[in-house]
Amino acid sequence: MKIPPTLSTVLSNLFKKPATNMFPKTEPVPTPEGFRGKLVYDVDKCIGCKLCVTVCPAGVIEFVPEIKKVTFWLGRCVFCAQCVDVCPVNALEMSKEFLLATYDKYDDNLRWLKNEEIEEMIEAQKSK
Ligand code: SF4
Ligand code: SF4
Repeated sequence: MKIPPTLSTVLSNLFKKPATNMFPKTEPVPTPEGFRGKLVYDVDKCIGCKLCVTVCPAGVIEFVPEIKKVTFWLGRCVFCAQCVDVCPVNALEMSKEFLLATYDKYDDNLRWLKNEEIEEMIEAQKSK
């Protein structure tokens, strides 16, 4: 009797190692070069030019005039990297971090320059 082609494929695959990545028991699949993960903000480099606020299509970035810096609400970010490309001082970078699930859209992990940090910076400016 002739074995149907599908059956022979199934039989040969029975003896092969599974090709499944067992995440989270194992590490996730490595991210490729140029992967756009969580945005990283270097507040010290930022010159407050607001170009990132202008290009962001998702309303993630808010200018804080008191300190001439920006704050990011990353729960809205669509990972387009337009802000990274436009920043004249390379204060922004897309990291490889992508495990960002949370129950709270205001999670600390989804915010750059949190309210407390903004307040501290304003206080520091006043005391100068
Ligand atoms: S990556 Fe895109 S959506 Fe996210 S903050 Fe930058 S410009 Fe906005
Ligand atoms: S584009 Fe860069 S320097 Fe300008 S406000 Fe945004 S992060 Fe700061």
